[in-house]
Amino acid sequence: MRNINKIIIIGGGQAAIYAVSEIRKHNKEVAISMFSEEAYFPYERPPLSKDFLMNKKKEDEFLFFSKDFFKEHNVQYINKKIIKVDLINKLVFTDRNNEFFYDKLLISTGSTNRLLKIDAEIDDKILYLRNIDDAKKIKHKILKADNITIIGGGFIGLEIASSLNQQNKSINLIEISNQLMNRIVPSKIANLVKDEHEKNGNKLFMNSKIKNIKKINENFKILLEDGSVIEAEMIIAGIGSLPTDDLFVDTDLRIENGILTDEFCQTSVNDVYAAGDVSNFYHPLYKKNIRLESYQHAQNQGIIAGNNIAGIKLEYNSVPWMWSDQFDLNLQLTGLCNDYDEIIERGNGIEEGIIYFFLKNGKMYGACGLGLAGKIGRDIRIASKLIEKGIIVDKKILADQNEKLNKLIKNK
Ligand code: NAP
Repeated sequence: MRNINKIIIIGGGQAAIYAVSEIRKHNKEVAISMFSEEAYFPYERPPLSKDFLMNKKKEDEFLFFSKDFFKEHNVQYINKKIIKVDLINKLVFTDRNNEFFYDKLLISTGSTNRLLKIDAEIDDKILYLRNIDDAKKIKHKILKADNITIIGGGFIGLEIASSLNQQNKSINLIEISNQLMNRIVPSKIANLVKDEHEKNGNKLFMNSKIKNIKKINENFKILLEDGSVIEAEMIIAGIGSLPTDDLFVDTDLRIENGILTDEFCQTSVNDVYAAGDVSNFYHPLYKKNIRLESYQHAQNQGIIAGNNIAGIKLEYNSVPWMWSDQFDLNLQLTGLCNDYDEIIERGNGIEEGIIYFFLKNGKMYGACGLGLAGKIGRDIRIASKLIEKGIIVDKKILADQNEKLNKLIKNK
């Protein structure tokens, strides 16, 4: 890595820390600085809506690397926000008087919560969950609230609804569309998840738009457009995320639902890379650009970005994968489930696990499954392999739970 003296990383999340660790594996000398707004070393986010919220894990139990990582690897961790960038002169600024030069820059700024806009007095009181501080705030507030309304039936809303239900809270959840997790999960799986929430006592208001919210003393009265009224002591919203790319809108970076990159995490500006939620990257397997907001993606793309920054040219072509745990159920999704010409069902219900495979031209394109813990993981892993290898699949084997799926790989 000749002529590279200084690498700057903007962001302190999963993509950032895995890129740093990778760069250091290949280059022990280059100066690396990571700028992060958060006063915590990089940590995993999945526990925030589950084990941390349910007091099963403490915050230092889900750091990606030990607290000594930065010292041991001679990486500067700067707990400051970058407020301006100058990509022409290769500078980032923490304030008007403090600029930092880079040879190579990684943008891993993640994504930002979409915010509800009701009215100024109410907007301030609505809680969101993105980081440890948000989770601590929720944990503190629920000590005095039994009746909680969640706005948004996506992953965040449903995981919180499951965690708080398990702490004996009474939960109402408002979803604007007619399907839970409608962005990426097929409707049949979403309906099974809905049944599970209802079986456990959560009340779900589907197809429901909020007309207004009134504050009455310390509580809220939520009026829906169909006339229903929901009372709540506390409101938490999870209504989606947007790529955190506002710092770059006036630069030469191409931005379109996130920062556009090629399969090597390289943006449209030389020596500037992007990885994680903020990147809208070219996926060689699907032959189109996609943007993902998931744990596995942040980690794997961070690793690939780190390699490319260190001068080792590697293509990022991981098959997308994500999971969600709600009550006793484990949901997993691999590939893409929104572009197919045939759907095959495997299994009858959640006890033994049920999976939908999405095929296109006879090949696996995506799969989504739901089951009691441990029931679908193996088959979803095999589905990922089938997607990666582009194998034409035998539909009879896919549909028959008595047939082992790895036959489909072994036979090839
Ligand atoms: P999400 O998965 O996009 O779900 C947001 C849901 O809220 C959507 O169904 C959306 O409907 C609905 N919504 C939007 N505006 C609404 C309104 N005014 N009233 C009621 N409902 C409304 O986003 P999220 O749950 O906030 O999570 C944020 C990101 O973190 C997502 O990318 C998610 O995948 C990720 N995450 C992942 C995990 C995991 O991997 N297990 C866990 C937590 C979060 P429309 O689609 O119709 O707008």
